[in-house]
Formats: sequence, structure tokens, C-alpha cells
Amino acid sequence: MSTNLKLRPVYYASVSGGDDSFYMLNVILNNPDKYPLDMVVHFDLEIDWGWSKRVIDFMEERCLKAGLRFVRIKPTKTWAELYEKYGFPTAHAKWCNLEYKLDCKKQLEAWIRSQNCRPVAYIGLCADEAQRFKYTIGETEDQDQIYPLAEEGICEAEVNMWARNQPIFEGYYRHFDRQGCKLCPFLSMKEMAYLKKNEPETFEYMFNCIKETEDMILKKKGKVWKYRGVGADVIKKRVETKWTSILNMEENQLHIFDFIDEV
Ligand code: SF4
Repeated sequence: MSTNLKLRPVYYASVSGGDDSFYMLNVILNNPDKYPLDMVVHFDLEIDWGWSKRVIDFMEERCLKAGLRFVRIKPTKTWAELYEKYGFPTAHAKWCNLEYKLDCKKQLEAWIRSQNCRPVAYIGLCADEAQRFKYTIGETEDQDQIYPLAEEGICEAEVNMWARNQPIFEGYYRHFDRQGCKLCPFLSMKEMAYLKKNEPETFEYMFNCIKETEDMILKKKGKVWKYRGVGADVIKKRVETKWTSILNMEENQLHIFDFIDEV
């Protein structure tokens, strides 16, 4: 029997704690007729940056005060459990996305579908991220994803410029224009220096994990795998000697401009 029944959409704003999703939530809340919203959802990862966890706490508090449902979802398995199984994620074994982060999305969407509804996610993609779009902007009907920032023609630079001066982001966007996870195989050298400066224990932990993974691959597979081609020790040293100074220098320059701004 064929059916033309349409499932009721459940609209959720997916927020990471970063600038794009924060800005997007503002756009959604200011355009309720265009962007209906049932709940705000955060995929709660142990490897979120400390500052972004504080942004999420703030958002949750504000949403709840406004009577808006705020849902946090944790991955089924912890990062440490998956690390025990696979080692530190690499470009070839990126379990951190599929088995960890996207596990939260699977749980959420299964829950929405179990109520005979269909999930529609608001995602914080900007107008200049067209290569990541899954639909043609303007054609939001029946989509399972909608990009309010792109729909409004808002570009990354605009969001980034705004974020640089928002105290809630604790200065992160003065140094970086993207936000991933803090235990990420793709961290830049400057991001590693930022991790060392702001969360030194996590920095040590990350390099211990990477070193252990190098040893594990050699033992289990008989293959030599060196982090970024040169090994954990070399990269760690470069961060400690060169990149920490670069980050500090950048910070001092930013402070000079802060001073000039204030004069
Ligand atoms: S940002 Fe990095 S650690 Fe986080 S899911 Fe993506 S690749 Fe993995």
C-alpha cells in the first residue's frame, strides 16, 4: 500500500559552541516564522574545547530561561573507550567523526523517528561554504538540513569578525577562524600551542596517546607510523619551542591593538 502521508518535521538547531552555530541560533530566534524551532541540540563531546563547553552552558541557561528545549547527547562510547580500541585517530582511521561524534546524531534522529516525525537540522554553514551544501539554497522544502546563515547570505568572514570581539569566546577567534575538537588529528601547530597554553594536562595526554599509538601500530601491524611523518616527540618539541612563542607574540600584538583601541 503506498502512502502519501508526510511525517511531521521536528526542527532542531545543532550547536557546537562555536561562532557559526551561535550566530545561526540568533538568526533563527529572530526569524521564527521562517525558521520554526522545536529544540536546540548539542552533541556533548569530551574533546570539546573548555571555552566552547562554557559557551554551551551559557546557551543552555538562556534557552531554558526562554522556555526553549535544550538537549545534550553524549556518544554511546566514551573517547577513551574508542581510543583503547583504535588508538589516536588519524587521517586513515578517523573514528572520531563516524563512531564518536556522528553517533550522537544517529541517537537523536532515531529518537525523533521513533515518534513518527522526521528530523530537520539547522546547520551553521555560511553562504561561502557552497561545496558542503546538500541542497540548493532557497529550496528548503522537504530537506533534512537547512542552512539559515547561507539562506540569509551571511559569509564566514562576517561571523568570524563578530566572534573575534565577543568575550564569550575567550579570545579563541582572535587566533583561529575555525573550531574543531581539541584532541583532533588535524590540529594546526598553533592550535596545539593554544592547547598547551590553556589546557596543559590535555596537551600532555594527547601526545602520550599519539606516542602510544605509534608504538601500538608497530607492535600490532609491524608498520612504522610516525605522527605527521616525523613522530610525536619531534612535533611536541616544535610546539613547545617554536609555536608557543609565535602564539605568545601574536597575543602580545593583539594586546597592543587593544590598547590603541582604548586610547
Ligand atoms: S574536528 Fe577533528 S577530532 Fe573532531 S570529529 Fe572532526 S576530525 Fe575528529
